[in-house]
Parts: sequence; structure tokens; C-alpha cells
Amino acid sequence: MKIDKNILKDFNRKLNLLKKYNHNYYNLDSPLITDEKYDILKEDLLKMEKNFSFLKKKRTELEKVGAPLTKKFKKIKHLKPMLSLSNVFDRKGMNDFINKIANYLNMKNKMFDFSSELKIDGISASLTYENGVLKKGLSRGDGITGEDILENLKTISEIPKKISDKRVPKIVEVRGEVYIGKKDFEKLNKNFANPRNAAGGSLRQKNYNETAKIPLKFFAYGFGTINPLNYKTQSEFVNKLESWGFKINSFNKVVKNLDEIEKQHKKIERIRSSLDYDIDGIVYKVNDLNLQKRLGNTSNSPRWATAYKFSSEKATSRIKKISIQVGRTGAITPVAKIEPVTVGGVVVSNATLHNEDEIQRKDIRVGDTITLQRAGDVIPQVVSVDLRRRDINSVKYIFPNKCLCGSEIKKEYNLHTKKEDAVRRCSKGYECSFTAIEKLKHIVSKEAFNIDGLGKKVIDQFWKLKLIKRPSDIFDLNYKKISNIEGWGELSTKNLEEAVNKAKNISLSRFIYSIGIRHIGQENAKILAGYFKTIEKLENIFLHNKRKEILNELKDLDGIGLTQIDSLETFFSNIKNIDIVKTLIQKLNIEKFKEVSKTGKLSNKNIMFTGSFEKISRSELKTIAESFGGKVLGSISKKVNILVVGNSKPTRKKMEKAKELNIKIFSEKDWYKLLNI
Ligand code: NAD
Repeated sequence: MKIDKNILKDFNRKLNLLKKYNHNYYNLDSPLITDEKYDILKEDLLKMEKNFSFLKKKRTELEKVGAPLTKKFKKIKHLKPMLSLSNVFDRKGMNDFINKIANYLNMKNKMFDFSSELKIDGISASLTYENGVLKKGLSRGDGITGEDILENLKTISEIPKKISDKRVPKIVEVRGEVYIGKKDFEKLNKNFANPRNAAGGSLRQKNYNETAKIPLKFFAYGFGTINPLNYKTQSEFVNKLESWGFKINSFNKVVKNLDEIEKQHKKIERIRSSLDYDIDGIVYKVNDLNLQKRLGNTSNSPRWATAYKFSSEKATSRIKKISIQVGRTGAITPVAKIEPVTVGGVVVSNATLHNEDEIQRKDIRVGDTITLQRAGDVIPQVVSVDLRRRDINSVKYIFPNKCLCGSEIKKEYNLHTKKEDAVRRCSKGYECSFTAIEKLKHIVSKEAFNIDGLGKKVIDQFWKLKLIKRPSDIFDLNYKKISNIEGWGELSTKNLEEAVNKAKNISLSRFIYSIGIRHIGQENAKILAGYFKTIEKLENIFLHNKRKEILNELKDLDGIGLTQIDSLETFFSNIKNIDIVKTLIQKLNIEKFKEVSKTGKLSNKNIMFTGSFEKISRSELKTIAESFGGKVLGSISKKVNILVVGNSKPTRKKMEKAKELNIKIFSEKDWYKLLNI
């Protein structure tokens, strides 16, 4: 096959990314992306490698275990490689795995036992005992060579330094998983995303006295080299480990067929959140050691074992409490405080319940065992309740009728849509301190004032210290006082001051968006800025006698509906809101609305983008299109003149619809060509 330079370039770029992620994950215990995104990238590379033969020689890179070792520790070769594990995700995958090994062994229609063991989500370690004395302690490293972390491992009380059994093999490499208990992890209070990263970071410290301070634990589950080998089955060996003083997992069980495997899987998935350690699946190992030997290994995993993974996005847990949160528009969101569980590589202890109707529909109660889901970076949500595990004394959840500030919360009735809102709201605005703090967080956010160094946590801190109460306070901060607060140095204070000063120059549309009027998002803010043009003109809306006329004129603007008009009316009828906005304006330099070129290449054209773009982000593409006079639309309809399709993951439905409607379709490359960018 002829080498396609573009494909090769793309492959190398992705491979380098993978290497970077591996290094951060395995060596620094600080992953840069979620496991899910990592798995997608790896899958993508494997697919490319399969489809293009000129990439074949790169395969070894994808088959490697772990990441190249750092210089932090002495390197020692394992007596037997420490490999990774293959994965299956459902019953079919497990069935295929069993059939594959049965074929390999030519044992079709015969069933063999499996040792099922919980897959502890920690860091693997290999301990070499010579005549019962612990001599070597290694990390998995790149699978072939490990790091010498003997002294660190010796600090773990669950690792025996000596095995007092006269019949212990002359040499045995005991393998197992170092982990941190969930409760201990909660107390750790360090910057690790989950217990696995915390175990890795704590174990592989240059100074083992630091490791000794962390309550690390160890489950033993297997062997590497063993001489002599006096055991017939995996389960027999694991039980032996227990008699030698190792902790073994109490849920280990020998299973005989696919139904038993499935039963065990479901049982463990149900109790997963109540365990004090993270697991990400169950490992099934052919129990007969003789068969294991015949099956051997592939380049990176044993053929005789596989990890039947739990969904990385879903998990079960128990609701400890239901409380409410107040958003910037006064919306009341019920939140379930749950027993902490790792979902998609992140420890989760809260899940959103959306609103009152959702709680009623699913009859969610305190004490319930629930399945939760975390898709992408979204807040986890409760998917279902396991009614079989509900306590007979449980009572229905009654939604509060008061906000955290004490005032009444109501569902609004929309006169135009003739529908009652699903969400209850506190209507006190800035007078409710819970709403006010959320409004401040919105004001400093990226899409609004975008103030570096002034994120949500800092707002919480400054609010508690009474440094900020109203938006205008952001521009009147007492920097001298801030530099004396713990965690704030001279440099960080100076940087904050600079960022705040820079933010004083703001465009009219961003300013309108920042005020946080309900139903006025970025798009509407832009439309309004186009209408008002200057802040002086906008200030007319503060005046009772002019407001009506303005709101009437706004009705004609494309994109501004009655809901927005009502919302503007409500917001500006409130004297406190006007006062807050007026004081804020005095601190700022609000730029005039810049008219976009109407005579550009895209004038009178409605454009829509779909998919991910490689060269330029979607938001920048939008700005560019607008600077050429085009208008960017969010949904496909007859109004769209051009559909621009990104190089990856375009929505097929949109493309089909565009073809149906005879809409011009541009590829990413052609789009850049057209605009000469
Ligand atoms: P793995 O974690 O899927 O499985 C192998 C490991 O399971 C073994 O090394 C062992 O330590 C462990 N294990 C636990 N209990 C066991 C038992 N009872 N018997 C045998 N082994 C047991 O494989 P891996 O190669 O370590 O890592 C791959 C995973 O890491 C993938 O899920 C991937 O998403 C993730 N990863 C994520 C990133 C990222 O940046 N987010 C980077 C690299 C890898």
C-alpha cells in the first residue's frame, strides 16, 4: 500500500498524544484525560493501524504495557513479565473469550473452571521472596522492567516481610495490588482525582518515609515465577497466599459457566459502592494452572485471563441525603449526596436529581440504592432506583417549599407557552445570598468577564471573607488584604489585579450576557448588543417610561421572543437589579458594538457547522463566519444555505437532511479555501 502522508502524520500525532497520556497516567499518576477518552484514542489508533498496512510496524508501540520508565528509581527486570489484561464488557464478550480459549485448547464443548477475582483499581506490585524472605519489590513499570520500590513496599503493613512456612517455594514472585481505601482517600485531602492515582503517587515516592505516612493496603492475587510449583489451581495458590499472611479478597470465587459468571458480575456490581476500595471489574482466570501454561500470553496480556469490566460511566451507590442547590437564576436543583464511588476515573459523591418532577417520576428516596451515570464531563445523574433493595421503612421524599434563604419557592407559569415550569425558583435575585454568589460565579466565568485567577473557588473564598458581595466589588478589590490571605502571595495577587484591570474593557454583548438575565444567553446578548449599539442606549431600559417602548421594538428582532422580553421586563423592573447594573457600569469601559461586515463573502448567508474541526475551534469558526457577514444557525432547516462539515464526527442525520434540502455542503478543507484562511 502506498504511504499516505496525511494519514501517517495524523497517526504519529495521535500516537505521540497517547505516549504523553501514558506517561502522565503511569509515571506521574496524574491523568490528563478521562479513561473513556483515552480508550477511544487507543481504539482509533488500533483501527488505523488495521486499515493501513504501512502503519503496521508501529504496532509494537500500541502493544506496550505501561509507559517508559523514569529515572526516579533503579530499574530491575522482572523474572516473568508483568502484563496487562484483555477486556470484555458484556456477556457476549465473555462468551467469545471462553470460546476462544476452548478453541485454542481444542476443548470445544468442555467447560473449565474460572477463578473470579475482583479487579482492584490500584497499582500492581511484584514481591520476590527467596526462601520466604522478601528480597525484591518492583512496580509493573513497562511490564518487562520494573522500578525498585522495595523500601516503599516494606512500609505497607499488609505485606509480610517474611513467610513462615517451611514448605514455601525457594523462589516466588507474589503479585498483587496496592491500593488506598475509599475512607482513607477522603481523609487524604491531596490533589488526586481518585484513589488509584493517590495509591500510585503515594507508593512511588523517592523518600519512602513519605510513603509510610499513607495508609496503603495490599491484596495478593497471583504469582510470576515460582519454583517449585506445587499447586494445581489458581484458587489453591491464592488460598495458600492467605495462609502465608497475605490479605486476599473475600469475594474470590470459583465459577463454572457463563451463567455463574453473569450472576457473580451482577452481584458484585450491586455491592460495588459499599466496598471500601475501588474496583473496575472482575478478572476471570482459567483456574487450572496446567491449562494456563498451555494458553500462555499474547504480547501484552495472558490468554488465560480477562477483565470483565463494569461500565466506566455507570455505577451503583446509595443516597445518604437529598439537599437543594440554588442556581444563578434562583432555580432550585435537588442534589443527592451519595456514598462516594468512582465513575469514569473520578470520585463522585453528588448526583443531580434535576427537579421535583424527576424525583416523583422515579420515586427517588433517601436510603435508596441507585444507578448513576456520568457521560462525558457532565454532572452525574441518577438513572434508576433498585426497588428490590429499598428499606421497608423508607418514606417518600417531600420537596421543600422554601429556598435556603428562607423565602418561598414557586414554579412559574409561562403565559406564552401555557406551561408550568418544571423547576421551582427563588425570586429574590441578589437579595438571596445563595443566588447572589452564583451570579458572581457567572460574571467571572469564561464566556462573561473571563477573569484569570478568579474562579468559582476564589469567589467562594472572597464571599466568605466579605471581599465581594456585589458584581462591582470585583473591580474594587482590596489587593493589600488579599496578599495577606493564606494561599495568596504577592505574585498571585499582582496577577489577579492585572486580570481584573484587563477585564474592565468589555464588549457590549459580553456585558449583557454577564449580567445574567434569565433566558439571555450569549446569542441573545449579541442580538441585543446589535440593537442597543452603545451602553448609553442600553441605560434607557432602566427608565420606566422608556422601557415599554424599547421592549416593544425588541419584539421585531430575529431570535428575541416573548419569553426573553418578559424576562427583561422582570429583571429591569427590579430596582435592586438596576442599582447593581448601574454601579457595575461605572467601573467599566464598555466597548461599542462592532457592526459585522455585511458585504463580506458570506453576506446574507446562513451557515451551519457540524462535527469537530481540526484546525480551528467551533467558536472561532463562528466568529470568522460572522466577520465575513454570515449568520450562524444552530439547527438544520430550509434557512441554512451552507453546511460546513468538520473532519471528525459530523452528524450523519444533518448531512442527510442537508442533501435533501439541497443545501451546499463544504468540507473543512474547502471551507478554509473559500475564506482564504
Ligand atoms: P488494566 O488496569 O485494565 O488491567 C491490568 C491490571 O489489573 C494489572 O496490572 C493489575 O494491576 C490489575 N489487577 C487488579 N486486580 C487484579 C487481579 N485480581 N488479578 C490480576 N490483575 C489485577 O490495564 P492497564 O494496562 O494497567 O491499564 C489500562 C487502563 O488504564 C485502561 O482502562 C485505560 O483507560 C487506563 N489508562 C488511562 C489513561 C488516561 O490518561 N486516562 C492512560 C493510560 C491508561
